[in-house]
Amino acid sequence: MAGRADKNRRSLSTKELMKNLVPQYIDQCIQCHRCMDVCPVTKGSFKINELNDATKQGFDVPPEIQEFAFNCVQCGKCVPVCPANIRRDYMVRYIKFKLREQKPWTYKRYLFIKGPNLGSLGRIAQKLFISLKKISVRDLACFFETAPLKKAEVLFYPGCYIYSKKTVRQTLRLLDYIGCPYTVLGGVTSCCGAPHMLQGEFDSADHCLELLYEKIKAIDPKIVITACAECYVAVAQIKTTYNEKFEVLSVVEYLQRNSSEFPNIKIRGKILLHDSCRFSKDSPQGSAARHAISTFGELGEAPSAQGPSCCYQWNHGCDQGNTARRIAYLAEVKNVAPTLACNCLTCYEELKKLRTDVEVIDVLQLFTESLDNAQRKER
Ligand code: SF4
Ligand code: SF4
Repeated sequence: MAGRADKNRRSLSTKELMKNLVPQYIDQCIQCHRCMDVCPVTKGSFKINELNDATKQGFDVPPEIQEFAFNCVQCGKCVPVCPANIRRDYMVRYIKFKLREQKPWTYKRYLFIKGPNLGSLGRIAQKLFISLKKISVRDLACFFETAPLKKAEVLFYPGCYIYSKKTVRQTLRLLDYIGCPYTVLGGVTSCCGAPHMLQGEFDSADHCLELLYEKIKAIDPKIVITACAECYVAVAQIKTTYNEKFEVLSVVEYLQRNSSEFPNIKIRGKILLHDSCRFSKDSPQGSAARHAISTFGELGEAPSAQGPSCCYQWNHGCDQGNTARRIAYLAEVKNVAPTLACNCLTCYEELKKLRTDVEVIDVLQLFTESLDNAQRKER
């Protein structure tokens, strides 16, 4: 990898870091089973010592642990309950890495057109996909697969979610409204690498991060904003790895900073916030989303602290229980509020697919609705 990224890149690749980390975790594990007790996906009847053995480098992964590893959604619920401070999610990610040649088609399909390390068929499919999108979504086509070279104070980075039309349109409208000096970097060719990382494709993930770093450096922003929690984590990692000064914010955090620009008026009733696995309740992103909901509506209390709140995206449909869990979750939400507001674009895109009585929205939709409301009143 040539260029600036070489100068500052960390000394160890993700693969090497994980190879060092996993044996330490296995030594620390007291086999209390708490991680598996809270894990929300379908698990086999294996014991913790069998799971630990399967995680070791050079050890085979038995079929039921293979199945579990592909079911794992990388939600991180197993992390805070561990008395030994072990990242069980990383350990399962390492099993995914060991099994990367055997990954199911649903996993392969998800990465087929994402990122820079594509085979010849993938490259052709990627070009075709981009061309078709540009024809079908003309108003946003100028933002697809962008790699701006000019500097900008704020970088809106939707990454692969540039094709999430509603959220991107809303974000652009809101940024224009507040007069934000922004540019856009988005598209499958600027993938943050999180989809690869969460599948255990460590080398591809590292490569995506390096390429993205080069693109961000060219823009030299003071603030990078993103609506996707996975993109947020990846950009935050770039900031740390390359010791960069820019701030990383969720779009809602950024809007909340500029909240004085928006009409402060209740436009909705009760709304429940769906905290992403990566934007926890107490995170700055979670707080910003709660503030936004409280401003434009009434914040509902979560049905239960331990309730299912995962969107189940990151096992790519491997776990047959995904849909039933999502439906059960939305049924719980319905008892609290008619609307579920998502704080992460991944969760929004997944949960809105379900046909239930619960309205699923992106938190930033509340800001656009406040503008619509004000404009209606003016007329
Ligand atoms: S990260 Fe994986 S192992 Fe941990 S709780 Fe979530 S699904 Fe289970
Ligand atoms: S919770 Fe921690 S210590 Fe307990 S079994 Fe899981 S990884 Fe091991």
